[in-house]
Amino acid sequence: MHRRRSYLYSFIICLAGLGLFIFQTEPQILHLSSSGWGWVTAMSGAAVLLTVFTFQLPPQGNGLSLDSSIYLACIFIFGAPSALLVLLLSSIVLLFIEWGTTPLWKHLSNFAVYSIMITSAAFIFSWFGGRQGPLLSSHLAAYLCAMAIYFILNLLLVGFFYYIVFRENLYTTLKEMLTDAVLAYLCTLVLSLVLTVLLFYNGITGLALFLGLSVLISYSFKRLFSMYRDIEERANRDQRTGLFNHSYFEAALEEEMRKSQASGSVLSLAMIDIDDFKKYNDHFGHLKGDGLIVFLAELLKRETGATNIIVSRYGGEEFTLLMPGYDAVTARQFIENLRKTLNNSIFEGSEIFPQGCLAFSAGVAGYQPDVHFKSELVDHADQALYYAKKQGKNMVHVYGNQSLLERDIDFSQDVRDIEQQLNLFMYKDLETFKHSKRVFRYAMDISELLALDNLSKRQFTLGALIHDIGKLEIPWGILNKKDKLSPEEWEMVKWHVTWGKEMALTNDKYKDLAPYIELHHERYDGKGYPYGFKGEEIPRLCRMLTIIDSFDAMTTERPYQPTKSFAEAIVELRACAGSQFDPELTELFIGYIEARELRSSDAAM
Ligand code: GH3
Ligand code: MG
Ligand code: MG
Repeated sequence: MHRRRSYLYSFIICLAGLGLFIFQTEPQILHLSSSGWGWVTAMSGAAVLLTVFTFQLPPQGNGLSLDSSIYLACIFIFGAPSALLVLLLSSIVLLFIEWGTTPLWKHLSNFAVYSIMITSAAFIFSWFGGRQGPLLSSHLAAYLCAMAIYFILNLLLVGFFYYIVFRENLYTTLKEMLTDAVLAYLCTLVLSLVLTVLLFYNGITGLALFLGLSVLISYSFKRLFSMYRDIEERANRDQRTGLFNHSYFEAALEEEMRKSQASGSVLSLAMIDIDDFKKYNDHFGHLKGDGLIVFLAELLKRETGATNIIVSRYGGEEFTLLMPGYDAVTARQFIENLRKTLNNSIFEGSEIFPQGCLAFSAGVAGYQPDVHFKSELVDHADQALYYAKKQGKNMVHVYGNQSLLERDIDFSQDVRDIEQQLNLFMYKDLETFKHSKRVFRYAMDISELLALDNLSKRQFTLGALIHDIGKLEIPWGILNKKDKLSPEEWEMVKWHVTWGKEMALTNDKYKDLAPYIELHHERYDGKGYPYGFKGEEIPRLCRMLTIIDSFDAMTTERPYQPTKSFAEAIVELRACAGSQFDPELTELFIGYIEARELRSSDAAM
């Protein structure tokens, strides 16, 4: 589809360009003198030379070609027909030079675009009173306008092509092109005027001088660019192993998460830690230890060579594999194979390891759209790695697959710990204290209903219990205010989600509850706070917590709201399903409440 559109666009451009070319040059070709042909040939040679010797510019190494200065100088001295002939000759030569590397249609549309730019610039030049010949400072406006139209057309014609092919936003495409090209444009502008002067007064010598300078500068730029690449490469690499370093990994992770979110493609992160490395260090010394790190790094490089996996040394003897296109299952399989390969590798002294061979443990985490921060994905992989170590090392574990996490045993202790914290609300805001406990009980029931695994159940219910902890930071007067809150006070109340999250992050045990605290005021339609996340961007259980939280707020007495009966609250939930709440989860919750009410009324009878 895109391809068809781009061909159609190229076809229209070609028609326009060729039409203008024929219209402008036909009568002139016959009248060109032999010296005129000499000039056209020399200028074509110059244009080819400048196209071949581009200036490479950091950061991407985009080539800055100065051939446009040749066409502009031609317009200023000889007029449009000669400039077009120069374009024709140089395009034919380039067609042969780039035979097989650039498709014919690209050559053709390139020719057409230049032809449109040249004729338009020449037209504007004479429109503003420009005269062919020497550079006249009294006609500066004509030169500037011609050059401006030349570049504006260039920007629009090429920008529109990218817009059609890649379907990107036209405004951002043009903006990016402009920021990239503005330096190139300015260079070409100045050079075309310099070339006009040189050509007019010094003829071929002037042209030769100009070309000599351009080629030398192009060569210097190439060297400068390769030095830049070298330094950039060194800044991104770990010196000992040659793998990417930690800071490169952080940047790549963010980029890959962004890409994955935009395109919906899968992504996994694996974290590897050598087993019992200290033992090896203690036995053979750090130098030999370093050798083992390099050995593993080489193995990782070799095994991932044919893939697009980004391998980094995360730190010490820990490595990360960022795996675009791998879901948790395929990623696990890949790492599992790596592990076996390492087990089978021969390395001096590996018999001292408890496993009797080289071994690592690994944690794998699959990227989900509800993972918003790169630290979360790293944290998941890290937790899975920790679990793999605890299960006896030399194994790969996928985050979320643990049937019974050890810390589940501390579940009731965690509840008591959080309740201890909540006790502070006893004097500060008794309502929030009671509300938290009710929401916790709802969450317990809902976990049964959803048949959550132990880990999710722990997170969901503790998350429900602790979700308003940030309110401890809100002044007593505001929490207990009977009247309507002022806008400033309301803003402060909203901060409780962020403060609460910060509080949870200070304790390793409650880190994974942070999303429940931070995101329980997000709305399904994206109009909530603090981020305005939408739909599935909000983790499913957080969406459920929002429903429970709101239902409890509706049905209990609050200083700023009249109480609703359960039936009224159900009507309200349904009214807000799809906007404030996840509609599917809302129905699920309502089903639960109705069943519970029915049971209690049966019991009463
Ligand atoms: P575990 O199986 O639990 O991972 O045990 P371990 O002995 O590997 O312990 P851990 O991963 O916690 O510690 C790794 C040790 O690796 C700590 C440090 O002494 C050593 N180490 C870290 N970086 C380097 C390094 O660059 N070179 C050398 N030789 N040793 C390192
Ligand atoms: Mg370690
Ligand atoms: Mg280790």
